[in-house]
Amino acid sequence: MSHDGRFAPSPTGPLHLGNLRTALLAWLFARSAGARFLVRMEDLDSGRVRPGVEEQQLDDLAALGLDWDGPVARQSERTGLYEEATKRLSSDGFLYRCYCSRKDIREAASAPHGKAAEGVYTGTCRKLTRTERRDRERSGRSPALRLNAGGAIRIGFDDRLLGPRSGVVDDFVIRRGDGVPAYNLAVIVDDAAQGIGEVVRGADLADSTPRQILLARLLGLPQPTYVHVPLVLGPDGARLAKRHGAVTLGDRAAIGDSPGEVLAQLAHGLGLASPNEHVTSASLLERFEPSAPLRGGLKPVSATER
Ligand code: GLU
Repeated sequence: MSHDGRFAPSPTGPLHLGNLRTALLAWLFARSAGARFLVRMEDLDSGRVRPGVEEQQLDDLAALGLDWDGPVARQSERTGLYEEATKRLSSDGFLYRCYCSRKDIREAASAPHGKAAEGVYTGTCRKLTRTERRDRERSGRSPALRLNAGGAIRIGFDDRLLGPRSGVVDDFVIRRGDGVPAYNLAVIVDDAAQGIGEVVRGADLADSTPRQILLARLLGLPQPTYVHVPLVLGPDGARLAKRHGAVTLGDRAAIGDSPGEVLAQLAHGLGLASPNEHVTSASLLERFEPSAPLRGGLKPVSATER
């Protein structure tokens, strides 16, 4: 099995301590197996990408001593691959056009007979009559493409940190109405094309994994193994954010913390170092034991901890 790993940030804002902790773990898992570690910029959402952020993110990884193999991949330069996969799903009869707005979806979910949880698509456009479809086509709204997931299929996987997980896969979007390939499609196509064997990423994405596994099956792509890293929370228990104080490497530098000190704090949170110990990425690699029970063992990293 390949242990090739990757870190795939979206260049929409600076990496915070949670992102950096995930990057560190992704690097440790790959490098401790003697495998490749790749960086991929998930920059398809051009409206959210901010100039200069990619360079800053790469500088931050390098400052922590995390190195990567080969050139950085950018999803915006790989759209041909996503189109090919979309065509394949379409010619296999798995896709349908969806004209629903976010508001339509919210309303369908909260309608008296709408059984779906908020955000789960109830399949309105899968069930359109020919006349209804024609009316929607005439409305001029450009349709998204959705996968006909065949009803409520439950897909499970065994996560190295979170343990066994499963989720019901709805008819999710493959290509947005504005033509942008959806995250779930791009990510599974890229992970396969780049030979990624183990996906290490934030636990906020664990709920997307069953969708990606289904896509891998439908496209005949290999399924990677998964490690979802618990998010770093602020002192109020909410997901780490700017308002929590010094949350980026730049913020930390401004209060006098070197990248090495931040690395030590992250390593302490992973149980790999004592507080304020001098560590480097290489020394952490020597201590890192991928089969050790990290499960549930991640300590919080405080936004301003020193
Ligand atoms: N681009 C996603 C993010 O920054 C990560 C995607 C992934 O690792 O699968 O949250």
